[in-house]
Amino acid sequence: MSRAIDRPHLSQLLAHERALFREKHPRSLELYGRGQQSLLGGVPMTWMMKWAGGFPVFMREANGARVVDVDDISYIDFCLGDTGAMAGHSPQVTADALARQSANGITTMLPTEDAIWVGDELTRRFGLDYWQVTLTATDANRFAVRIAREITRRQKILVMNYCYHGSVDETFIVLCDGIATAREGNVGAPVNPTVTTKVIEFNDVEALERALAPRDVACVLLEPAMTNIGIVLPDDKYHDALRELTRKTGTLLIIDETHTLCAGEGGYTRAHTLKPDMLTVGKAIGGGMAAGAFGVTRDVSEKMFARKDADYVDVGGIGGTLAGNALSLAAMRATLERVLTAKAFAGMIALAERWTKGVANVIHEFDLPWHLTQLGCRAEYRFMPHPPRNGGQAAAANDEALEQYMHLYALNRGILLTPFHNMALMSPATTKGDVDYHTLVFGESISQLTPA
Ligand code: PMP
Repeated sequence: MSRAIDRPHLSQLLAHERALFREKHPRSLELYGRGQQSLLGGVPMTWMMKWAGGFPVFMREANGARVVDVDDISYIDFCLGDTGAMAGHSPQVTADALARQSANGITTMLPTEDAIWVGDELTRRFGLDYWQVTLTATDANRFAVRIAREITRRQKILVMNYCYHGSVDETFIVLCDGIATAREGNVGAPVNPTVTTKVIEFNDVEALERALAPRDVACVLLEPAMTNIGIVLPDDKYHDALRELTRKTGTLLIIDETHTLCAGEGGYTRAHTLKPDMLTVGKAIGGGMAAGAFGVTRDVSEKMFARKDADYVDVGGIGGTLAGNALSLAAMRATLERVLTAKAFAGMIALAERWTKGVANVIHEFDLPWHLTQLGCRAEYRFMPHPPRNGGQAAAANDEALEQYMHLYALNRGILLTPFHNMALMSPATTKGDVDYHTLVFGESISQLTPA
C-alpha cells in the first residue's frame, strides 16, 4: 500500500475520470448497451468487462501500436491484447500471409509445409527437440501436463502461488496463510484443486525440495519469471536449484514462455540457457492469430510414444480439430520469420528500458514508495517500495482503486494499459515518442494525485 496517497482525494479523482470517460465514449457506451441483449456481460469474452472506465471501448481498427475506437479516438497501445499482439497489430507480412492462406484453405486436418518451418524455428529458438501446435497457450499447458502425468505415472502437479497458465483446472490454487486452497472466484471447480495440485511460493527452494521429496509430482509448471501477479523475477540460482531438484526426483519441468517471450526471440529460456523438459508458448507467436505450441525433449518424446496404450491420435485427451490449421501456421511462420526477430526484440527491449527510466524518474521526483521492474520488452510499476520475491508478496501489494485511477487517467489521454497489471509491452511498431508520451501522462496523473 502506498503511504503517500490521500484516499478521499483518490476517490474524487477516480469519479472525475469515470465521468470524463463516459462523456468521451458515447458510441462505445451505446454498443455496450446493445451487447447486453445477446452477449454475456455485453461483451464477447467476459474478461473484456475489466476495463477501468466501467465499460470497454469498442475497437474500430488496430494497426501497429495504435488502436482506434468507434468514437474515433486513437490510442497508443501498451496492452497489445495482453501479449497476443506483441508483434504489433496486423503486421503487414502476417496480414499478407493470412490473406494468401485464407484464400487457399483454412483448415484441412492435413499438415502444410509451413508446419515444418515452424517446428524447425521453434527448436532453433527454444532448444526443445519436438513440437506440437495448439490453438492456445492454455491448450499447450493442458496437454503438457497430461503428457507429464502419462509418462511419470504420477498424479499431482506443482505450481507457484498466484500463477496463471490459462484456464487449466489444476492451476487455480493458492496459499492462504500457508495452506493450499482453491483460488478465490474459481468458477465451477471440477474437484478441490488440492487433490490434483501442490502449490508453493516462487523462489522458495526449501518448499520446492519438500514438495518434490515424496516423488509423487509429475511436473512443475511455472513461468520462468512470474508475470501474472505483476512481474516477479527469479533469485540468482533459483533456476539451477529448480532444475537440479526436478531431475533428482524424476519430476518433469515445464516452462511456460507465453508471456516471458518478451525476454527475447527464444524467451527467458534461451536468454538464461534453461533446460526444461517441456516448454509451452502461445499468444504472440501467431501475430495475433490463434496459435500455441508445446515443445518436448527427445527423451520425453521417446517416453510418450513408448506407451502403446496412450492414444495420441484420437480421443485420448490431447487434440483439437482446428489445432495446427493452415492459417495459424501461415501466421506463425510470417510472424516468427519476419516480425518477432532478434533485431526487433533489440529495439523493443531498448524501448522498455526507456519507459522504465522515464517512469522511474517521475516516481523519484514525487518521492513515491513505488518501484519499477523490467523483463525484456515488458515493464511495470508497482505500488510497493521493493520488488516482491513471490506471488504472495505481490498479491498483498495490490491496490485496486489506485490501479484503476492510473489506468483510467491514461485511457482518457489516449493510452491503453493491460487491465490486469500496471504493465506496458513494446511492439516492433512502438516508438520513442509513444514511450515519452506515456511518461508525460504518467507524470500528470501523479501530480494530480499528490498535489503540492
Ligand atoms: N500462460 C501464461 C503465462 C499466460 O499469461 C496465459 C494468458 N494470460 C496463458 C498461458 C493462456 O493463454 P490463452 O488464454 O491465450 O490460452
